[in-house]
Amino acid sequence: MTSASSADLFTRAQKVIPSGVNSPVRAFGSVGGTPPFLTSAKGALLQDADGREYVDLVGSWGPMILGHAHEGVVEAVREAAGRGLSFGAPQPGEVTLAEEVISRIAPVEQLRLVNSGTEATMSALRVARAATSRDVIVKFAGCYHGHVDALLAEAGSGVATFAMPGSAGVTASTARDTVVLPYGDREAVTALFAERGSEIAAIITEAAPANMGVVTPPEADGIGFNRFLSQTAHANGALLISDEVLTGFRASREGYYGVDGPTGVAGADDAWAPDLMTFGKVIGGGLPVGAFGGRKDLMGLLAPAGPVYQAGTLSGNPLATAAGLATFAGLDEAAYETLGAASSTLQQLVADALTTAGVPHVIQSAGTLFSVFFREDPVTGYADAKAQDTAAFTRFFHAMLEAGVYLPPSAFEAWFVSTAHTPEVLDRIAAALPGAAKAAASA
Ligand code: PMP
Repeated sequence: MTSASSADLFTRAQKVIPSGVNSPVRAFGSVGGTPPFLTSAKGALLQDADGREYVDLVGSWGPMILGHAHEGVVEAVREAAGRGLSFGAPQPGEVTLAEEVISRIAPVEQLRLVNSGTEATMSALRVARAATSRDVIVKFAGCYHGHVDALLAEAGSGVATFAMPGSAGVTASTARDTVVLPYGDREAVTALFAERGSEIAAIITEAAPANMGVVTPPEADGIGFNRFLSQTAHANGALLISDEVLTGFRASREGYYGVDGPTGVAGADDAWAPDLMTFGKVIGGGLPVGAFGGRKDLMGLLAPAGPVYQAGTLSGNPLATAAGLATFAGLDEAAYETLGAASSTLQQLVADALTTAGVPHVIQSAGTLFSVFFREDPVTGYADAKAQDTAAFTRFFHAMLEAGVYLPPSAFEAWFVSTAHTPEVLDRIAAALPGAAKAAASA
């Protein structure tokens, strides 16, 4: 255990690590202050280097769906570690993990494991371009798909937090092959396909956007936005890539696909059929894992059988698959009920506190996932998400942190509960909320 304080560690870190962090949002750049350096975590609670304890609503940005240091997961990793840390060769856990994902998500017929969500989306784009012999990728403003060159334009998550238009270091030719449209804008999608349909390899979208805050995919004329995208892509010989890195196995047992999947109505065109899907976070239970999968004919394009090269020294790592499988073992129907209940209770508590303090807000959800926007009106896309009172969020954030609740340090992120967010834990959050809501109100 370290005896250095968070402030000391941050000073040292800034000398040897750019901005002191290994992923931008962790630097607290948009909210200010020193990020707590975390030393341990158990269930829904975090400990920092200063001896403080927090209720965690970040959950490592999604993977810790069963809570931290879950006994079953830790034991599975310990046991796997005793049998070897990495083989660089096939191992049984990879097969079982692929079978588990495929059994939950109907459109996934085959799956490849990688080491992050970024690798998953990068690889899915490569397959889509190879399959269609086309170059152009369509994405939506405010959606984040990892730090893939082609996908950084108007991205959510940290790119939104720091109000960056995209990223330096992305070549003009790469940027030219990405078209960014407003989320939910069917006319823009239709117009783009009318003009450039034969150039478009794929549309990539978050199944439910959660990196500009949570946006529920809009319905129009009884057709959900995902289904509309699937139909439009397919009518034009393009593919749909549904990114469930964040929503996968969290929004529901079958991810957001389980919330917004086939209609089940006899005779209906059920085809909101993503051709490729990407996963991460939950499937690795806290170890570095991503995955991409989908139609067998498309996945069959991968080397060595096919011409699309994709590989990884540590892909299918035995510790990572053990953690993922142990996490899935804990994710039964009862776990999703617990998550759903914790999520709704928390949403209600936040709404009550902000309403009482007179703070404009709107809470949006997608399955058990939700986020809080500091503005009056619903958020349908990135422009709305940006038009919120981030200063009110910052005051709220710091008051919560001071009261022992660790929120995502950005107004553009989802809040993450776990099955360890018991009523007692939620009571601790409830106790912190009124003061934080007052702080948010006091401009
Ligand atoms: N896609 C989505 C929807 C994500 O939320 C994220 C990460 N938050 C990624 C891709 C990238 O995953 P990773 O950070 O593991 O590279």
